[in-house]
Amino acid sequence: MGSFSVLPPEARRLEGKVALITGGASGIGASTARLFSKHGAKVIIADVQDELGHSICKELNPQSTTFVHCDVSKETDMENAVNHAVSTYGKLDIMHNNAGISGEIKYNILDNTQADFEHVLRINVVGAFLGTKHAARVMIPARKGSIINTASVCSIIGAVGPHAYTSSKHAMDGLMKNTAVELGHFGIRVNNVSPYIVLTQMAKDGMNLDEDGASRLYSNLKGKFLMPEDVADAALFLASDDSKYVSGHNLVLDGGFNVVNSGFCMYPQ
Ligand code: NAD
Repeated sequence: MGSFSVLPPEARRLEGKVALITGGASGIGASTARLFSKHGAKVIIADVQDELGHSICKELNPQSTTFVHCDVSKETDMENAVNHAVSTYGKLDIMHNNAGISGEIKYNILDNTQADFEHVLRINVVGAFLGTKHAARVMIPARKGSIINTASVCSIIGAVGPHAYTSSKHAMDGLMKNTAVELGHFGIRVNNVSPYIVLTQMAKDGMNLDEDGASRLYSNLKGKFLMPEDVADAALFLASDDSKYVSGHNLVLDGGFNVVNSGFCMYPQ
């Protein structure tokens, strides 16, 4: 086991819970895996990056963290990941549909291909659908559970991401709302966490961003930059009983970015 340690029992907000995190080998998912483990959850990391996923499990407690290879766009993989959670830890309390890709950054629609567009939708939307479906399969009989999708500020606003990415994240908002209504009948909560730009591998590759570039990014909230750990904190809130009456909610983490009207601002800049 690495130097990882859990919080004292009274401070643990996920003690006794089992959480499956897709895309948990990197970025926001890896931060969430670390935080959920710290709070006493058993964590299953489901990702296509096996080596990285295994290394996070080694860093955390190998008794309470496992890796399963899973391409979220394949139903058999998703089904297997959920079955793995149940056979290893006996149940599934928290499903975090977090895996996602930005796709090729081509802002001109004429340069976008059908194949690229469908690829982004297959991972971001179909992946979240399959994760929700298979989590519901085991949560419905238990009459409880929390499903969290990592959407994006692109789920509520245009022109921040490319066409396919923005479309996929808007679709995730619809999926979350519909499933929150259906699964609420079984005591299962469904919510989205929707970050603005976070300096992860995705932002580094997709937006060609480094620390320096990130510090110059437009932010409505001056002097602050959104970190993967901040998104993990929001996911912890949605996963824990602290949010026991929150469902059908898109929790946007953008420092007020989406309410700025750049064409008219009465406040000094
Ligand atoms: P990341 O690239 O660091 O992590 C994404 C993870 O998803 C990786 O581990 C990758 O291997 C995994 N993944 C990709 N395709 C997969 C597949 N088919 N099956 C299983 N796993 C797969 O990026 P991140 O920024 O941590 O992204 C996590 C989520 O956050 C994504 O849904 C992304 O859209 C969303 N998001 C990111 C930002 C940002 O600025 N980084 C902003 C808003 C939302």
